[in-house]
Amino acid sequence: MRYCDKCGVTIAGEEARCPLCQSMTLPRGGDSRPPFPDVPTLYARHGLFFRILLLCTVGGAIACLGVDWALGFHGWSLFVAGGVACLWLLLYISIARRRNVLKALTQQVVVVCALGVLWDLCTGWRAWSIDYLLPAAFMSVMLAMFILTLVLRMPSEAFLIYLLLDMLFGLLPAALLAAGLCRNAYPSIACVCVSVIAFVALLVFKGGAVAQELKRRLHL
Ligand SMILES: [Zn+2]
Repeated sequence: MRYCDKCGVTIAGEEARCPLCQSMTLPRGGDSRPPFPDVPTLYARHGLFFRILLLCTVGGAIACLGVDWALGFHGWSLFVAGGVACLWLLLYISIARRRNVLKALTQQVVVVCALGVLWDLCTGWRAWSIDYLLPAAFMSVMLAMFILTLVLRMPSEAFLIYLLLDMLFGLLPAALLAAGLCRNAYPSIACVCVSVIAFVALLVFKGGAVAQELKRRLHL
């Protein structure tokens, strides 16, 4: 136990600073157990699984780099390494944001699209990332969000902002189309239509909540 002279309180555990006033605490005998229960993290509980996965994926990527190198380096192993890096990045976001699945989805769709565009750029720009990946990612996330909000019976303030954000993303292909960057226009057009229809549907069913949410978020 510790004692804070300033506040005149005893503090359970062995904290060096007082939780009330942040001044240094004095030692006082007795119970030295921390006041909070020890809750193992997801990593701690599934530590072995994550270690094995890490070993397999990183080991595989290194083996591929070695084989590629031995056969005169054609660069394909860099794709394997990039894929492994993407996998871990997405896994990290999912776990870090697991308490807010819609936020995780929104972040992941941004990361996936950014990585896809980067990948496309690095492999001689064939525009597949903006032709197919972006519209497919935005539409599937919108669908996933609608299903999740229905299944989890979320209150509207918990999902509206993410749904609106994804609909805004869904309009991005229209800008890319207008800029003449797309080679196949159909997926982008479909994505824009789905976004607009989803927005209209949201207005029809949750118009009041949408107005309230926008007012709250934009400080109108
Ligand atoms: Zn104190």
